Amino acid sequence: MYTVPKLDDYSPEALDRAAADLLRALENESAALHSESDYKLFRDRWLARKNGVLTQVNDTWLKAAPGPAKREVGQRVNALKAHVEAAIEGVHGQIHASSADAKLAAERLDITLPGIQRPIGVRHPVLRVMDEIVAVFQAMGYSVGEGPEVESDYYNFESLNFPPNHPARDTQDTLFIGGQEAKPARERLLLRTHTSPVQIRTMERQPPPVRIVIPGKVHRNDPLDATHSPVFHQVEGLAVDTNITFCDLKGTLDHAMKALFGSSVKTRFYPSFFPFTEPSADMQVSCIFCGGKGCRKCKFSGWIELLGCGMVDPNVFEFVKENGYDSSKISGFAFGMGVERITMLKYEVEEIQLFYEGDVRFLEQFA
Ligand SMILES: [Zn+2]
Repeated sequence: MYTVPKLDDYSPEALDRAAADLLRALENESAALHSESDYKLFRDRWLARKNGVLTQVNDTWLKAAPGPAKREVGQRVNALKAHVEAAIEGVHGQIHASSADAKLAAERLDITLPGIQRPIGVRHPVLRVMDEIVAVFQAMGYSVGEGPEVESDYYNFESLNFPPNHPARDTQDTLFIGGQEAKPARERLLLRTHTSPVQIRTMERQPPPVRIVIPGKVHRNDPLDATHSPVFHQVEGLAVDTNITFCDLKGTLDHAMKALFGSSVKTRFYPSFFPFTEPSADMQVSCIFCGGKGCRKCKFSGWIELLGCGMVDPNVFEFVKENGYDSSKISGFAFGMGVERITMLKYEVEEIQLFYEGDVRFLEQFA
């Protein structure tokens, strides 16, 4: 960096040389500038009133000049100052223009480039079908209930009339929360194996009549295979009122299946067993693939088993009797269906795992 030298010789030739050195230094420094901030440092270095290069020239050359040379030196220093100031101003214009050019170049927008395409998000097929099922029942006046996924033995089994030796209570089927040996059996926590506990929770909160559907996630200690998963979704329903009969159950479910699968679908019921309903039934729909003629999907029977249902067992009402559920005065029906199973039928999905793998190639088909 340029520093102002002391002058011993004040002859015109020596002054010319010193001025030429200074201007060369100015030119070199200005050529190395790239940005507005470079320029500001440069300008201050040369023009600052306190200790800028021009101030130093004034102090070192003019003030130190011997009397006879002062006039000559003063004229030269003034000319030099004007020259330097003009040069620095000129440099500013160049820097400004080139940094503006650089800015424009950086912000250049090619409007002919193809746009950024964002993948379209959609509801997961299982949630979509769950919402569809819920909507069918909402249209019939049902409200929607929810409950905890971590349940007590009491709500998941005992109050639903599960006998102590029922297979669903077996540790082979149920995922229990560990470290609860000190608690009484009915208070022990588990991952709910069905959404049915919400039936009891609802009846505890609200006297009859009740019309409710309960969508939610349930857990069973099942190994993953083509049609089973340790986590899956259910929609359960409960209707309790005076004079509810099995006819109401059949009519309600028949209507729901027609709403879900189309008006040509038929339903049939045959006896089954669930601890919390009596009588209990399994409901089948006529095969939605072959229309009942028989195909591989329905194992050539023409029917597909779809859900379990039945009239609420009076023993279940005993647990909520004090809230108005007197089985001599009221009756009700309940049903439960697996959402994955219905989704697999509706969309002809063969493997249940596809719903949980999160593979976009599978999921984007539902967009
Ligand atoms: Zn079929």
